[in-house]
Amino acid sequence: MDRNRGPLASGSPGPRTPPARRADRGSSVKASPADQIRLLEVQADDARLDALANRRRTLPALAEISRLTREITDLDSRIGSAQTDVSDLTRSQTKASNETGVVRARLDRNNVRLSAGTGSAKDLQATSSENVSLHRRIAVLEEAELEVMEQVEVAESTLAELRTTRDGSAVALADAEQQRDAAFADLDDDLGRVRPHREQAAAQLPEQLATRYERIRASAGGVGAAQLADGRCTGCRLQLNVSELATIRNADPDEVLECDECGRILVRA
Ligand SMILES: [Zn+2]
Repeated sequence: MDRNRGPLASGSPGPRTPPARRADRGSSVKASPADQIRLLEVQADDARLDALANRRRTLPALAEISRLTREITDLDSRIGSAQTDVSDLTRSQTKASNETGVVRARLDRNNVRLSAGTGSAKDLQATSSENVSLHRRIAVLEEAELEVMEQVEVAESTLAELRTTRDGSAVALADAEQQRDAAFADLDDDLGRVRPHREQAAAQLPEQLATRYERIRASAGGVGAAQLADGRCTGCRLQLNVSELATIRNADPDEVLECDECGRILVRA
């Protein structure tokens, strides 16, 4: 067969099928021209169904949902840590405050005794000098308490910020889920229209033709049947040469042809 062809169509797919491939093809299939045209309808519906399935898989909302779900999981874990920080620091603050209270109570008792003037001069002197160190101790404890109070404030504000961010992410997630559900509903509507049409057309195909089509479609990127239009195969977009076109013209209308280049069923329309 003459393999010298005219210029290739732009965007023509990869390398040409090696000639040996012809030997792999099954026995010839017969189908009326009407059935062959019907096969093109089935092919068109299959292309629509494949496109719908692809849109369902690659919906932008799905990527957004998984991103936001990961983000919320991460925020939940950080909120958990921040809550622990707040409660640990609050406990430290209470402890510091209690310690100051104990020292302050002792100072108060000492002051009552000093005011009453009860006890020996030596005792009063000792109490008085103890008060000096109690004052010093209270100053140290109060400073520590102030420091831990500031830490509590920082931890509380971190926790509040994380909760605000999480609330925002939860709203965005609900929004993305709504978009996904709306898109799924639209796709289901389209499926509901295309699928019955496809099934009805496919049910009328001769079994041999349907089987051949499915086999080729499975190995040829979802396109099992193509049309011969303007001397070109719409499957591989390659131009057929004059002698191939003559062979096709002379072929029995019931003979199911296959493209020499891509191996797809070639329907004369
Ligand atoms: Zn082709």
